[in-house]
Amino acid sequence: MRWTLTESIKKNPKSIKIALIQRITDQISVFRDDLYPYLGGGNKARKMMALDEIIKSQGVNAIVTTGGIQSNHCRAVALYSKKNNIKCTLVLHGDQERLFSESGNAKVIKGSGATMIFSNACEIGKNMDVALRTYREQGYNPFYLNGGGHTLEGGYCYTDELEKLVDSGYVPDYIFLASGSGTTQAGLLAGVTRKGLDIKVIGISVGRTTEKAENCIQEFYKELCKTYGIDGKRAKVIVDDSFLCGGYEKYNNQIKQIADDSMANYGFPLDTTYTAKAFYGMQQIIEKRHITGQVLFWYTGGIYNYLAK
Ligand SMILES: *Cc1c(COP(=O)(O)O)cnc(C)c1O
Repeated sequence: MRWTLTESIKKNPKSIKIALIQRITDQISVFRDDLYPYLGGGNKARKMMALDEIIKSQGVNAIVTTGGIQSNHCRAVALYSKKNNIKCTLVLHGDQERLFSESGNAKVIKGSGATMIFSNACEIGKNMDVALRTYREQGYNPFYLNGGGHTLEGGYCYTDELEKLVDSGYVPDYIFLASGSGTTQAGLLAGVTRKGLDIKVIGISVGRTTEKAENCIQEFYKELCKTYGIDGKRAKVIVDDSFLCGGYEKYNNQIKQIADDSMANYGFPLDTTYTAKAFYGMQQIIEKRHITGQVLFWYTGGIYNYLAK
């Protein structure tokens, strides 16, 4: 196993200066976004920290957001709020019993002091609006944060990471990653476009159909490109939904096996909801399409999902 340290050229002094790229086979390397050193790491932590400046400059003192019982996003928001002495309301979809019985992100969320509202899927928006209004009535200045940390800033921070990586001299032919809201994928893709490169960024869907995911990500990617003043027509968004196994949090035996063996094989955990699913999809695609170029697996985190039960 070889390790490479890549120096960042980022101007922001608060940003992490080193990205860890871990080579796991002759063909495959891993971007260890789980080692992002704030709020428990992973892409949701990085997306949350990308909002730090806005939240502080706007004098925000309450955040309302949403996610599932094992949401990495809700964990990052809850920790950010606790650290910064900000009120936090999480509108959680899923079973209250499950939250109390599980560990992982659920454990962190429970210990954070965030207000938890349990909601069925149809009433999330309504419950978030109520929470927002309640904060305003109490004199707070609340911030409405989309589920998954889906914001432009969340996209920009991945454009940045891609550019830092390329500037360090590491240019893969393919990037594979678990794709949910697609913020991470669109951000990376905008970085590829900005650099004028031809890196294929392939999202393995963890919940949505290819059509829905590709349309949403294409729209968001275009928005990112617009703010950068670059032509967003160049890149093609690719999301593969062949490995859904029926939907979010569903998996098959092969995915389970990859997750079970991941710590021993690679030194980091792949979880059945996100990264083991994406890793399995990547392996299948490499094999079926006889891909020979250098591949970067963008490891988005998920250790708390792995340790949830
Ligand atoms: C949320 C999440 C993803 C998906 O990221 P998006 O930017 O929403 O597509 C992938 N992996 C993990 C571990 C996540 O928590």
